[in-house]
Amino acid sequence: MLHKDVLDRLQKYVLPFRITKGKGFRLKDFDPGDTRGLKMDKGEAAELLQQGTKWLAEEQDMLYAQDRWSLLLVFQAMDAAGKDGTIKHVMSGVNPQGCQVFSFKQPSQEDLDHDFMWRYMRSVPERGRIGIFNRSYYEEVLVVRVHEEILKRQQLPPELVSKHIWDERLADIAHFEDYLTRQGVVILKFFLNVSRKEQKKRFMERLDKPEKNWKFSASDVHERRFWDDYMQAFEQAIQATASKQAPWYVVPADNKWFTRLLVAAAIVEAVEQLDLAYPAVDAAKKKALAAARAELEREK
Ligand code: ATP
Ligand code: MG
Repeated sequence: MLHKDVLDRLQKYVLPFRITKGKGFRLKDFDPGDTRGLKMDKGEAAELLQQGTKWLAEEQDMLYAQDRWSLLLVFQAMDAAGKDGTIKHVMSGVNPQGCQVFSFKQPSQEDLDHDFMWRYMRSVPERGRIGIFNRSYYEEVLVVRVHEEILKRQQLPPELVSKHIWDERLADIAHFEDYLTRQGVVILKFFLNVSRKEQKKRFMERLDKPEKNWKFSASDVHERRFWDDYMQAFEQAIQATASKQAPWYVVPADNKWFTRLLVAAAIVEAVEQLDLAYPAVDAAKKKALAAARAELEREK
């Protein structure tokens, strides 16, 4: 299939889930089980995904050669929504040298001794690279917002903590993203939207299947109690930070094959907009290449 045809097909699926304007965004308008009427068997979905990842690998090669743009992919979700699996599948074709995954867990004491953006800032991908944030600075307005005792550990001067703190943080995040995009960092943010029901099913599976036991964590079950608070925090985060230059994708996550396909499609589509090409070779470089060839040919 031609690239253009694949792109057209992919775009059709991506558009309904891309949020570029926060005003009026409501999470309840998005169904975690949505597959856009697609009923793919696993084989078909896998094939389309494979085409997408192959394409992404080609684009990444040019991204790296050009050394101008970088790509920051942010993944946020409730537990068991499929972040890890999605990252694994979508990035399966790309050259590991051009790609880095950062998983952000609870902050260290050193992290807490700095401003909240410090540890994330240090991992922003350099030009030519793809950086993946498996959880990100958004945790600072999600888990920290839902459990305010975490905020206390951040050692902020008390007079700087008011009821406006979350709006202030969200504004800081939006500005940070504006800054990065003006520096050539293309930002795509994925919220893997899993339903509470499907999460329970996946937790049960982790308990039932010995090979999945290691993935189970009792604290994840505890966190389910705060589901509504999380959904509200996600909604407010998306409302405050969705923009044309750093869009959110609210990806239905109850069907893994659809999640993976949509994320791959969104990335391919965004990278395609950059119109990447291998750097042109100028006259001086051509001369140097010809001289190198001549030297190699002279070798016995
Ligand atoms: P998995 O469970 O699939 O291995 P994970 O991303 O859930 O991946 P965990 O080690 O289970 O990784 O959890 C990391 C925890 O760290 C999450 O509960 C998350 O909310 C928490 N966390 C991340 N960033 C922060 C932060 N800035 N402040 C406090 N907690 C954070
Ligand atoms: Mg976890």
